[in-house]
Amino acid sequence: MVENGISPSYQRLKIYSCLMGTKSHPTAYTIFEKLKEEIPSLSKTTVYNVLKLLVDKGLVKAVRIEDHELRFDAEVREHGHFKCSVCGEVSDVFLNQELMQLIEQRNKVTEIQFNITGVCEKCLQISKEK
Ligand SMILES: [Zn+2]
Ligand SMILES: [Zn+2]
Repeated sequence: MVENGISPSYQRLKIYSCLMGTKSHPTAYTIFEKLKEEIPSLSKTTVYNVLKLLVDKGLVKAVRIEDHELRFDAEVREHGHFKCSVCGEVSDVFLNQELMQLIEQRNKVTEIQFNITGVCEKCLQISKEK
């Protein structure tokens, strides 16, 4: 955090480690809800501001999977997302090297953002058992 030019205040560290500790791609509101008991002085505005700072400094990625919600991700390697239309879970999808090479043969890639929607393994399993 310091090496990214951010002075590591208690709230900043808490918000960052909250993101580091999850794969669920939470929204700012979810992060606020999760931390407010532990940090009663925390405000929603602070959460938004800290997230913006972390994104600006490249420690966190902002991910838009659906228009109405912005989610946050501590996985900063370039990747896309799979969202389950049944349980709503979001998971990371990485392009394999072969596919990347194919794209980069002709183009210069600056950012990777793509979304796949479907039914996840877990939900498929449940629907089979019914
Ligand atoms: Zn699912
Ligand atoms: Zn992700």
